Amino acid sequence: MTVLPELGLVRSGDLDKVLAAVDYEHAPYAGGTELVPAMGLGLRRPAAIVDLKRVEALKGIEVDADAGTVTVGAAVTHRRLSDHPGVRERLPTLAAAASRVGNARVRSTGTVGGNLCFAEPRSDLGCVLVALGAMAEVRSARGARTLSIDELIVGAFETSLAEDELLIAVTVPFEPAGTSYWKLQSYERPTLGVALVATDSQWEVTVGAATERPTRAVIAAGDAAGLAAFVDSLELSDDMTGPSDYKRSVLRARLQRALGVEL
Ligand SMILES: Cc1cc2nc3c(=O)[nH]c(=O)nc-3n(C[C@H](O)[C@H](O)[C@H](O)COP(=O)(O)OP(=O)(O)OC[C@H]3O[C@@H](n4cnc5c(N)ncnc54)[C@H](O)[C@@H]3O)c2cc1C
Repeated sequence: MTVLPELGLVRSGDLDKVLAAVDYEHAPYAGGTELVPAMGLGLRRPAAIVDLKRVEALKGIEVDADAGTVTVGAAVTHRRLSDHPGVRERLPTLAAAASRVGNARVRSTGTVGGNLCFAEPRSDLGCVLVALGAMAEVRSARGARTLSIDELIVGAFETSLAEDELLIAVTVPFEPAGTSYWKLQSYERPTLGVALVATDSQWEVTVGAATERPTRAVIAAGDAAGLAAFVDSLELSDDMTGPSDYKRSVLRARLQRALGVEL
């Protein structure tokens, strides 16, 4: 029988106390849907977990009509995000993506912050948030900084967070007309995600799940050659969800259909 090593628990509702506790040996714990399996596999062995679930400062959802933004606390679950009336009204694509994450257990316990900070490539939220130009508020006992989601997720399972930093919230501009998100999914997590913000003048295309991190290009509307070059340039994963050639042809087909071009 495997004996699990002793594990400490830091639990407080006070954000400053939580921030003072976090470091490599004291891992933030939100829903645990990624952290617990990683610990079970021995991939992560913190001396203690720092519970974020009691920190109200991480659980808010605020719609700011003057600024034209929605701010979502890092410990907001997928379910709360998808059910929130303000999110549904102002960020309908994000709300729909959150409503289709994983399964009911993951949606009820998994959080926005855990999703982004684990940086598993096969994610929906990272792709949609990069497409929408969301900004992350990050804090440690040393201070605070703001960065784009593109700067936060720097690779597969890799973020630019320091070991003592917490993601506090993400601030998302109201979704513009022409925004959509589509995913190919045959297992529990997405195989390919495509977020589009298409206007009369430009196509903003963000590809996720099959890429190491959400990858965005801005292309002049109607520039089929530019779009084809972007599709060809992507390094797509070759794994149990399918070979890269297959994912590339699905991506091409999706873009053709959504944008009405021949690629
Ligand atoms: C079966 C299954 C299916 C899934 N399907 C999908 C899917 O279809 N689409 C999708 O997008 N995702 C999917 N996911 C991923 C899911 O969204 C994440 O597991 C979940 O959001 C992680 O949140 P959590 O609160 O459980 O994170 P935790 O497990 O608590 O934490 C994950 C990591 O982030 C760190 N962390 C957590 N919060 C913070 C913070 N505020 N600041 C700094 N670090 C932090 C932790 O220390 C840990 O390293 C799936 C997961 C599972 C298990």
